[in-house]
Amino acid sequence: MLDRRKFIRFSTFTSFATVLGKKLSATENSITIKDQPLVVSTWDAGLRANKAAWDVLSTGGRALDAVEQGVMVTEAEHNCCVGLNANPDRDGFVTLDACIMDEFSNCGAVAFLERIKHPVSVARKVMEKTPHVMLVGEGAQQFAVAEGFPLEKQELSPEAKISYENWLKNSTYKPPAINVENKKDHGPFAPFKLENGEWNHDTIGMVAMDAMGNLSGSCTTSGAGFKMRGRVGDSPIIGAGLFVDNEVGACTATGQGEDVIRVAGSHSVVELMRQGLKPEAACKKVIERIIRIKGKKANDIQVGFVAINKKGEVGAYSIHKGFSYALKNGKEEKLVPAKFMMP
Ligand code: ASP
Repeated sequence: MLDRRKFIRFSTFTSFATVLGKKLSATENSITIKDQPLVVSTWDAGLRANKAAWDVLSTGGRALDAVEQGVMVTEAEHNCCVGLNANPDRDGFVTLDACIMDEFSNCGAVAFLERIKHPVSVARKVMEKTPHVMLVGEGAQQFAVAEGFPLEKQELSPEAKISYENWLKNSTYKPPAINVENKKDHGPFAPFKLENGEWNHDTIGMVAMDAMGNLSGSCTTSGAGFKMRGRVGDSPIIGAGLFVDNEVGACTATGQGEDVIRVAGSHSVVELMRQGLKPEAACKKVIERIIRIKGKKANDIQVGFVAINKKGEVGAYSIHKGFSYALKNGKEEKLVPAKFMMP
């Protein structure tokens, strides 16, 4: 155990050294913190999101602020699966899900939220201003408006409009990730298996460690494109799309939400890290569990996890090839392809 004086000395030293992005080895109490602060997030959109998170982390800010600011970048972009410009549900409405969790296990979430540009910020308000963890639908929207979030127009982005019109030609009600046989009908703006065989999901999940060594995470999505109205996936569900335990680590998920929920995906990864597994091994074990449950149907779904532990080690794993995560620390900024179980 550290005595109080040593602890204060160590904290001051770590904050100073790590804000400079230096690799730090504090042998006096056998804690090794690699490349702290650190942020990782799902997919290539994460590269842009990490930059905003880094603005917070590199100036000594809190991981919670970093993960909110980071994913807000993606929520404002035009892509298939995050924010108001994303694909709608099968009735033509964009409905958004998001959650956030901090180092004290405070958490907040919104689901089935319409016409609000930054669901992650509403999730944070739920966490900070209500006695609840999750608000959904109309109630979530009323709360957002009461908190001063503008109600945006209910209209599809030009890309989503094309994508939705294409989908309407065949309009099957299967979750799109399963509906690979119709992938050509949905255009490039849909979360399908691509022509090159890679999977195209775009939820952004982000986990970060700040200069104080504290962890937080966020996750935000429009969910599966052309989903049934009212469908909510894993992304806003604490323990499924995101989980943070400041003593152990943090994990976020992307891919077929129903199959992440089944195994309490992100929570399972963190619990495996608690038992001593490194992030990559923990992610792999939960991916194996999903494949075991799904059997042959695992061919038709993609799930990916990315996790960090309290030592600042990072790992990821997915069912299929194609999942990548973006990483940024004081030394490097890169997109890392995750290992996978099935080609
Ligand atoms: N996990 C998201 C959901 O199921 C979708 C995705 O990551 O593509 O809602």
